[in-house]
Amino acid sequence: MSKGVISKDEDYSQWFNDLVIKSDMAEYSPVRGCMIIKPYGYSIWEKIQAVLDGMFKDTGHSNAYFPLLIPKSFFSKEASHVDGFAKECAVVTHYRLKNDGEGNIIVDEDAKLEEELIIRPTSETIIWNTYKGWIQSYRDLPILVNQWANVMRWEMRTRLFLRTSEFLWQEGHTAHATSDEAIAETEQMLNVYADFAENWMALPVVKGRKTANERFAGALDTYCIEALMQDGKALQAGTSHFLGQNFAKAFDVKFTNKENVQDFVWATSWGVSTRLIGALIMAHSDDAGLVLPPKLAPIQVVVVPIYKHQEELDNIATYVAGLTKELKAKGISVKFDKRDTHRPGAKFAEYELKGVPLRVAIGSRDMTNGTVELARRDTKTKETVNQDGLALHIETLLDEIQNNIYKKAFDFRAENTTEVDTYEEFKRMLDEEPGFLSAHWDGTPETEQKIKEETKATIRCIPLDNKQEEGKCILTGAPSKQRVLFARAY
Ligand code: AMP
Repeated sequence: MSKGVISKDEDYSQWFNDLVIKSDMAEYSPVRGCMIIKPYGYSIWEKIQAVLDGMFKDTGHSNAYFPLLIPKSFFSKEASHVDGFAKECAVVTHYRLKNDGEGNIIVDEDAKLEEELIIRPTSETIIWNTYKGWIQSYRDLPILVNQWANVMRWEMRTRLFLRTSEFLWQEGHTAHATSDEAIAETEQMLNVYADFAENWMALPVVKGRKTANERFAGALDTYCIEALMQDGKALQAGTSHFLGQNFAKAFDVKFTNKENVQDFVWATSWGVSTRLIGALIMAHSDDAGLVLPPKLAPIQVVVVPIYKHQEELDNIATYVAGLTKELKAKGISVKFDKRDTHRPGAKFAEYELKGVPLRVAIGSRDMTNGTVELARRDTKTKETVNQDGLALHIETLLDEIQNNIYKKAFDFRAENTTEVDTYEEFKRMLDEEPGFLSAHWDGTPETEQKIKEETKATIRCIPLDNKQEEGKCILTGAPSKQRVLFARAY
């Protein structure tokens, strides 16, 4: 990466921040904890949105939009929900400013709201208040709605993309006639997220359930996907909640079932956010910049001409026009960078920083020889190849890069997932070789809390594919029937 940037081995978090800023993805805003997502960063979000939106629609969901502001009283209706979110709510108290006569803009105390409003930290309350009017009988169910929106959680320790106070996300909110159907929906959406993470983001994830301590406020069960970053810390990449009848009871949402009996409606909610962009960066990138999986890269192929005279450029441009047409027909995005304000070397560095998966360089000699130089971002290898059949070769290479990035992340996770059986080993590993630690736990919130206080490691999840085995809790020695996944996390 360009001068003055720390390598990821030296200072991982500085490396991450530098990378986000230098690759032109985002910058800090004047308000702490908020960020400006720049066009390059936003174009990755648009790709993420497009793919996920398609997956949601394929599983029967429709998009809707609910308001940003929620009456404060709604939050007191579901006790554990308010407990969970109270500490991080932004509250709107007034609706007007005024000039105090001395040139200062102050809040107009005459414009105080009768009921304060909360900027949504999540939308269960406003949505279940609305669903009350939409649901009378089993014929009105299920409701399968998603919204793309921003939310606000007043986070104390923020980090670009991974944890911001305002973030962009999607939140699915579904309503069902039976518990079984709601649980099936919760699991289905967890699988959608895992599919997206693995097959689009090239990010291997562990599917699991959260412990009671780590559950979403108001949920009966929280499912999650957990990923491992290159510094050995875990990141929760997505959650899917089975909410039981909690919100239906809080907002009095009843329906008449097929037997003509009244019952409360069953609920789920599920979400992923702009944190996924942080996950992409942290999981794959290197000291030269971003490494983006081809399937989510805004530019998949960049073509850089190397020329001295306009005539040479014209000749190259004619060839590139044909190549571009062929690639576009295959759904591959291409940028032809013929700016004469930047030298080829500067362009190479820029696209490396931006993580463009494939670079094609073409000079006059290539035009004579009928060749191009291809450079892969993931392996940093270069090869000279024939112009004949180039589009097909590029298509194959992009697939190979996608698979290679996934495999690299998968192998890294495998190398950094360890079974440990003693607390000493557990603590040593966290300090010396951080990663996922698979260990026995006695199942109590007290033990979980104590381990967290002493080591800063949390139970990331109880993996869904866990095998049952006899063991002893690493802290208390009490009997345990399965291992859970611990790590220090973002
Ligand atoms: P939750 O509603 O708490 O289950 O969160 C839904 C998803 O939003 C989580 O899976 C996280 O990936 C993401 N998320 C939670 N808090 C933040 C935050 N402060 N910034 C960015 N993403 C977040």
